[in-house]
Formats: sequence, structure tokens, C-alpha cells
Amino acid sequence: MTVIGVLALQGDVREHVAALAGAGADARPVRRPAELDAVDGLVIPGGESTTISKLVDIFELREPIDKRIAAGLPVYGSCAGMIMLAAEVLDGRSDQRGFDGIAMTVRRNAFGRQVDSFEAPVALTGVDGGPFHAVFIRAPWVERVGDGVEVLGRVAEGPAGDRIVAVRQGNLLATSFHPELTGDLRLHRYFVEMVRTASAG
Ligand code: GLN
Repeated sequence: MTVIGVLALQGDVREHVAALAGAGADARPVRRPAELDAVDGLVIPGGESTTISKLVDIFELREPIDKRIAAGLPVYGSCAGMIMLAAEVLDGRSDQRGFDGIAMTVRRNAFGRQVDSFEAPVALTGVDGGPFHAVFIRAPWVERVGDGVEVLGRVAEGPAGDRIVAVRQGNLLATSFHPELTGDLRLHRYFVEMVRTASAG
């Protein structure tokens, strides 16, 4: 069975484990390098990217994760996880650091302080069955993408319409929103399929 880890340092780990299991994966929390070694794919959950960044160093996971990403490990980052996968972060803390991830610039807490959270439909390239009911919680948006990054979705409605909120670059996937909170498993299935394809290749 496809083994997918959820980085379990901080954030909504349990919800991702449940959604991945529902999507047919053997889902496990990952806190230690040895646990990372055992997975075919990794989810970085939403939470607080500055805290996750600190804990990644404390738990000595930075180098192992960067190495696995360089070797093609499929990784899906949601919200804070998207920030951890961004090559460049605007409005971040000066000491927060992400992985060697997607060639994109994201802006933290981008939708504005008044609008902490909102929900909006988002159509995703490669995900059938109609727009996703996307939940945004102090979410980042993608301000720029570099070569090789495919834009999968934009938010048309909401506080600052037409922003990029879902991207993919090779085996790396990121969304500004939280599919693990709505019971719609399509995005987790999409990621499980990415991991299966990568493992088969
Ligand atoms: N604002 C958070 C951060 O900067 C992300 C919020 C979330 O993951 N729901 O990390």
C-alpha cells in the first residue's frame, strides 16, 4: 500500500491522516527522520509556518526532507505547508525557512487581517466533479510562479478575487486552502495518485 506521511510537528495533522486514509493510503504521522525514510509521499499540513519552520530544525528534519525532495519525493503542502514549499515568502518572519520546493513567491496572511477566514469555490485543473468548496484560514496566495510551475486553481470570489491558490511543480503540490476540513477527498485522492505514479516510475 502507498505509505504517505503527514509532517506532525504542528497543525491539523489528524485531519490529513484521516483524509489520506479515506483516499486509500496508509497514512502515518512523521516526526523523526526514521519515520520519513519509510514514506513514499509527505503532506505538510496547515498550521503556523513560523512554528513549523522552527520545529523542523529542532526535530532535525530539514536536511532529510530537502534530500528526499531533491530525490523526487512527492509532497503536498496546504496553507502553512504551501508556505514551507515556497522558494520565496513575502511578509514572513526573517528567520523562517522553507524547503527547496516550488519556484514561486507566496505572500503570508495575504487576504488581509479583517478577512481571517473565508470560503469560496475553486475549480482545479485535473480534479473532476466541479469546483472545490475551498476553506481559507489566514491563507497565503501565490504572487508569482516561475518556469515549470503549473497553476491548478485560482479563487474568483472572496476578498481579493483572481489569485492563484493551487499549483503543482513536478511532484510538488500546494494549495492555499484546507481540503482536509470539508470531507471532500478529491484533492487527497489526486495526491495519492501522484504518489502512486511516482513510486511506480
Ligand atoms: N498564516 C499561517 C502561516 O503563516 C498559515 C495559516 C494556516 O495554515 N491555516 O503559516
